[in-house]
Parts: sequence; C-alpha cells; structure tokens
Amino acid sequence: MRKILVAGNWKLNGSLADTETLIQGILDGLSQVKAADVAVCPPYPYLAQAQRLLDGSTVKLGAQDVSDQTSGAFTGEVSAPMLAEFGCQYVIVGHSERRALYCEDDEFTARKFVAAQAGGLTPILCVGETLEEREKDITEAVVARQLDAVIELAGIDALAKSVIAYEPVWAIGTGKTATPDQAQAVHAFIRGRIASGSESVAENIQILYGGSVKPDNAKELFGMADIDGGLIGGASLKAEDFLGICTAAN
Ligand code: PEP
Repeated sequence: MRKILVAGNWKLNGSLADTETLIQGILDGLSQVKAADVAVCPPYPYLAQAQRLLDGSTVKLGAQDVSDQTSGAFTGEVSAPMLAEFGCQYVIVGHSERRALYCEDDEFTARKFVAAQAGGLTPILCVGETLEEREKDITEAVVARQLDAVIELAGIDALAKSVIAYEPVWAIGTGKTATPDQAQAVHAFIRGRIASGSESVAENIQILYGGSVKPDNAKELFGMADIDGGLIGGASLKAEDFLGICTAAN
C-alpha cells in the first residue's frame, strides 16, 4: 500500500520571516494530518532555518534543485551531500521551470537524479507535457522520453528510491488542473512503463500529481488509483491551504 506524500515547492518565494511563519503554521496544524507524509522544499538559503524549525517533527525537508556534480569549480552550484548535511531527504529534479527556463534537458536531468541518489537524497523526478504537446496528442511519448532518460542512466531499480511527479506544464501555476481522469490516465501510463522494467518497483513507487492542486480539488485527485499525493506550488505558501491539501488524504 503506497502512502500519500504531499510536498510543497516554495520556488523563489519567502524570507526569513516568511519561512518562520509558514513552517510554524504547518507545525501548528500538523495533528490534523492523519494519512499523508508531508515535505517542504524551501529555497536554499532557508534550508538551515527550516531544518532547525522542523527538528523533532515528522515534516520532511527537501530542496528544489541539485547539481549533477559533487564538488569543484562549479560556481553557483549546490551538491547533494551539501543538501544532505542540512537535513534534506528529498530534492526536486527536472521541474518544468528548470527544463524550460534553464534549458535542462532529459540527459542533464538524469545526471542530477543519479547525483541526488549518490548523495543520499530521494529525487522527486518531474515529468510532464506542454499544452502544445498535449494538443498534438504526444503526452505519452513526451513523458516516456523523460522517464526513459533516467531509466537508461540510473537503471530501473534506482527508481525504487525515488518519487515521480507528473506535472502537466499547462496546469502549473495557471489555475487549470488536469481532471482526475486526465491525471489518472497519465499516472497509469507511467506506472505501466515502469512495470515493463520491474513490476515491484512500479507497484511501490509514489507518483505525485502537480499542477494547481488546491484544498478543494485534492481529495478527488488523491482518490484516483495511481495518484499517490501531490507536488504543490502556489498553495504550499499558505499554511492553511497546504494543510487543507494534506488533510485531503485523511
Ligand atoms: C509546481 O510548480 O510544481 C506546481 C505544481 O505549481 P502550482 O501548484 O502552483 O501549479
């Protein structure tokens, strides 16, 4: 039985004061969350503060990106072992904003996935199609390509220690959510593709949905057979909304 995971991707938002307020708000309402694992992914500079605030709680910490390198002359990069030192268990790789705005391709994303695992982190691998790709009816081909790049480099068994997030690009930050049936269809496709390499990995891997998840649509999405939680952007910045999504799994 797969557990629901709800992870908040704060993106480029916040301050020391905001981090304190948001984490305190989440901790204050955490006893309402009965069935989901909860994680937050603040910007790098707030990881130490978040680690301190979350100490002793069940909320897990993650980062939003990671270098494909471990150390050396790579100005501006942050490695997986560094993130692990700050208590990170998760790291997002291949978010569509990284792919689109910073030209991170499938192969580079796969290297980040491998680097994350080598540094002891669980990668949350984002896959998903643009609106144009959906309209061309190539959603499955795009998602398969993104997934296969990781499987080719890391091997199918590496997926056992990872999380997938299906995030249709057209639903991110737009207020347009995929319908539960649309999301379920792609989640089932992803699980089926993984099953062709390993049925046990496919059975156990958490596949999150991301794209304008809100407290009022989370329950229906999380009720679908192959949706195992959510990667939450905008709604993760308000404790009340984020908790509303986490409790949808109850
Ligand atoms: C995201 O960026 O991962 C995301 C899902 O954003 P939003 O919830 O704002 O659509």
